[in-house]
Amino acid sequence: MSGGLFDRWRTAPTAVAEPQAPAAVGLQLWLDDQARVLRLAGPLRTLLALPGQPGAQVHDYLLRHSWLVLEGEPADWQGQPLDLDFHTVMGHALHTRGWLLRQAQGWLLQLFDIGDLLREQRWDRQRPLLGEIGHALRECGVSRLAQTTQEQLQVLADHWQARSLRLMLREAEGWRHYVSSEGAWPWPAEQVLQARLQALSAQGLVEANDDQELLALCGGISLFMVPCRLGQDAEAWLLCAGAPQAPPADMALALARTLIEPLLVRHRRQQLHEQAGHLDDLQQQLGAGWWQWPAQGDLQLDPALARTLALPSRISEPQWLAHLHPADREPAQLALAQAREGQVLGLNLRLLTGDSQQAPRWLHWAGHGRGGQVRGFLLDISALKAQEQQAGAARARLENLIASSPAVIYVQHYAEGALHSTFFSASLAPLLGWAADSEQARQPGLAVHPDDRALWLQRTRDLLREGQVRCRYRLRDQLGGYHWMLDEARLLRDDLGQPVEVVGLWLDVSEATEAAERMRQSEERYRVLVEDSPAMICRYRPDLTVLFGNRPLADYLGCTPAQLEGADLGQWLSAGQREAFVSRLRTLTPEQPLSSAEICLQLPGREHAWWVWAERGLFDDAGRLLEVQAVGRDNTEVRRSQQQLLQGAKMATLGELATGLVHEINQPLNVMRMAVANTLKRLENGVADPAYLEDKLRRIEAQVERAARLVEHMRVYGRRSALEHVPFRAWAAVEGARALLEEGLRGKGVALRLECPGEQPQVLGHQDQLEQVLINLLVNARDALLEQGRAQPWIRVRQLLDRQCVRLLVDDNAGGIDPLLHERIFEPFFTTKPAGVGTGLGLSVSHGIVAHMGGSLTVANAGEGACFCIELPLHITS
Ligand code: ADP
Repeated sequence: MSGGLFDRWRTAPTAVAEPQAPAAVGLQLWLDDQARVLRLAGPLRTLLALPGQPGAQVHDYLLRHSWLVLEGEPADWQGQPLDLDFHTVMGHALHTRGWLLRQAQGWLLQLFDIGDLLREQRWDRQRPLLGEIGHALRECGVSRLAQTTQEQLQVLADHWQARSLRLMLREAEGWRHYVSSEGAWPWPAEQVLQARLQALSAQGLVEANDDQELLALCGGISLFMVPCRLGQDAEAWLLCAGAPQAPPADMALALARTLIEPLLVRHRRQQLHEQAGHLDDLQQQLGAGWWQWPAQGDLQLDPALARTLALPSRISEPQWLAHLHPADREPAQLALAQAREGQVLGLNLRLLTGDSQQAPRWLHWAGHGRGGQVRGFLLDISALKAQEQQAGAARARLENLIASSPAVIYVQHYAEGALHSTFFSASLAPLLGWAADSEQARQPGLAVHPDDRALWLQRTRDLLREGQVRCRYRLRDQLGGYHWMLDEARLLRDDLGQPVEVVGLWLDVSEATEAAERMRQSEERYRVLVEDSPAMICRYRPDLTVLFGNRPLADYLGCTPAQLEGADLGQWLSAGQREAFVSRLRTLTPEQPLSSAEICLQLPGREHAWWVWAERGLFDDAGRLLEVQAVGRDNTEVRRSQQQLLQGAKMATLGELATGLVHEINQPLNVMRMAVANTLKRLENGVADPAYLEDKLRRIEAQVERAARLVEHMRVYGRRSALEHVPFRAWAAVEGARALLEEGLRGKGVALRLECPGEQPQVLGHQDQLEQVLINLLVNARDALLEQGRAQPWIRVRQLLDRQCVRLLVDDNAGGIDPLLHERIFEPFFTTKPAGVGTGLGLSVSHGIVAHMGGSLTVANAGEGACFCIELPLHITS
């Protein structure tokens, strides 16, 4: 299109004059009277979306809004300028302006392209807006940047008649909603929008109409999005919602760019500023900073760093070296020279502090040179160095500890299913005498005791399968001796679970293992001892449940040792014995854990057995009795002989009493004889009246009774005592003894004084035995009295009572016993009586009887003679 021709159309359409002839430029359409297109011509023809088609209407070539221009028939359109927009093959509209000319046949529509003209007009309208927006954003303060952006968005929203504009910025973590214009709009959720933007970032202006997903997101409402790129990718998107139509892409892009570019630039600058601030902070905290050394001149230091190091920020080479530790000066000088030649500089240096007391500061000096100039950074690594030193010291201590411990720490590397030793702690040599690189160290399996090889192989298998193992085996040392090793090892795996290496520990447990073996052997010996002991050995709980019993015990009880376990020991005891047994256990305490007693058992197939039973209680920390260990010895035989002895002594006493007894029985016989003789005499004389007869007969009956009682008593006394203790009145024994002795004593002129007590408590034992004791004491007193030939001899028996015991005191006026003999008179066979008279057994047997009843028999001299005291525990029935 030529400039002159175009100029004509710049004026208002009304001012256009009708041309003389059609020009061979632009577009020509020949139409018939019904506006059907007959022919097309002109260069623009090729742009049309619809090529010449028979019967097509001119309207078919036009965008819909241009139809209004061509209302009615061609004849109506004459004489006025026509602005028509055509569909093109490129998709955008072809803007034309022209007129209609009458032809000989039909009409000629002559048109020219006015696209450029329209664009320019639009731009002319935009320009002030662009300037305004750009200016506002460039000039506002940083603090008002967001606020200003929002205001400018509002301006743009008004311009596009949009409901809401939203600005999204790309940041490191994704798209961020920066600001929106004021208008309300149901924007899709932020995350959904972000994802969409990410996907669309490579595109230009996007209209919701062009993008199905976006359309779905906005529920079909108008939305278009304008990207702003600074490089390849979109850095920001301007989202415009609710505008009646999308502006042309070039304009929208320009507007978005005007708005966003200054914003991004300022935004970036702000970010850089903040980052620089952070970096400064960080450098300050790290004690790091830059330095540079030009080819000629002094070292220049980061001023902040120079301050923290207390150095000037410019410093000459000799000064710099003077500040370094003497040992570091030469390396520093050499490293700098090399760096100037282009090598990389990396050196740790000590910087002297002004204070000689203070440790030097460690610096890492790094840099590289270019063209004789060197630059780099300095980093304060004092803290690191201090930690390194501490770690080094700790490591040294640990190594020392490991080296001096009786354990060997080892590492085995895993390769192709096998383990290869790679490390041993220094304790290996002192322990096994192996060098770390010796054959055994590399393959410890070779040094395993032949009997333990299976264990060793199992250990490796378990280790690889389970990840850890703990076992013992013997290893041969350098001298050929074997050590029991406790091996505890753990398998380390990599991230994929593949075995990497084994870390383990060998502990020499030879001593412990041997001690355990010795212990086992000694336990075995004790077990044999217990098993084979002739004594009965037994362990039981306080409730008498048997935990263990050896064979002798089992044999006595008529079962096997296995049957004893769990059995009730009480089943072989009478109720009384059991009660006594349990109450004896109750007296055991951690301080007094021992007790012994003679127990009486009812054994299968035997009448009774007497065992001497020694017990020891085992207690827990709280002092509770857990179990009892007991050793027993069968005492039945001894017991039987004792009883025989007792019986013998008893019979001897009876023998002694014989004279008195004869007199005792004679007495009633004499009385009866007299009564019978007198009665017979009366009967012969015929003067026996019934009253007389009855009186005599009653007297005889009383005497028979008396004799019978005496005989019965002797019979009972002479009988063997019952086996078990029974309760009886202590005083009853005194009366029993009197019955047998009183008459005899009277015959010898000895007075027997019984001081009858008010209360007569019970004791446990056998009455006949206590009677025997009393008879012994009375007979001894009588003998002493007769021997001394006292004027008025007497024997006295008294009872004293207190809360726990009863005492029977027997004293006389025979002058007492030599105190030197007080102990000896209780010895068996001790007597002062002439041979054949005394047996020396009386007191000894009596002592035994009283002791067996749980009491005591003692002697003292009191008043005019000896005083024997029988003390017996009371039998208290609850
Ligand atoms: P025996 O009577 O056979 O001698 P005992 O054991 O009964 O044996 O007595 C031992 C001794 O104790 C007597 O021989 C006597 O010397 C002394 N004895 C016992 N009772 C008395 C007493 N009441 N007064 C003095 N001596 C006594």
